[in-house]
Amino acid sequence: MESRRITQYEQLLLILEARKYDLNECLIWFGNKDKDGYGKVRVGNSQKKVHRLALGWKHDRELTKTELACHSCDNPSCYNPYHLWVGTSASNNQDMYAKGRTSTIGETHHKTHLGEADVLYIKYSVLPRPELANMYNITVTAVGYIQNGRNWKSLNQKDRNHARLS
Ligand SMILES: [Zn+2]
Repeated sequence: MESRRITQYEQLLLILEARKYDLNECLIWFGNKDKDGYGKVRVGNSQKKVHRLALGWKHDRELTKTELACHSCDNPSCYNPYHLWVGTSASNNQDMYAKGRTSTIGETHHKTHLGEADVLYIKYSVLPRPELANMYNITVTAVGYIQNGRNWKSLNQKDRNHARLS
């Protein structure tokens, strides 16, 4: 029997669509979560992680099994697609190591969260990417994403203002 009730997954897509020009803050998932704090929804017959779906939505494709959805905000329940980037296993480990998450317990998310000013600085900086990555404790890949405008798209309007002023 076919149900016409809107699924959680469809709700997720609607929220992302509705809020796509207003996504600066973490978008916290209040529905079901797995033991690690990642939101999960049923899609067809399987459970999918909400942040992976959100990142897939941003790139308009499904993530492959080898691709990881990495948080720039370190907040597992966050599914703001602009706080997420596609990483490989190696870059995720590197990222976690750089952030010291493997050795520091209880550090708040905010410490590693890039503010708008940071993102703009990275975007317009002439410093080499590895140096920027070191400065902000993020991966070189993440720096590339910011500089190519593939991430933090919500800053586009401010970017334009910035460009006009400089
Ligand atoms: Zn976030």
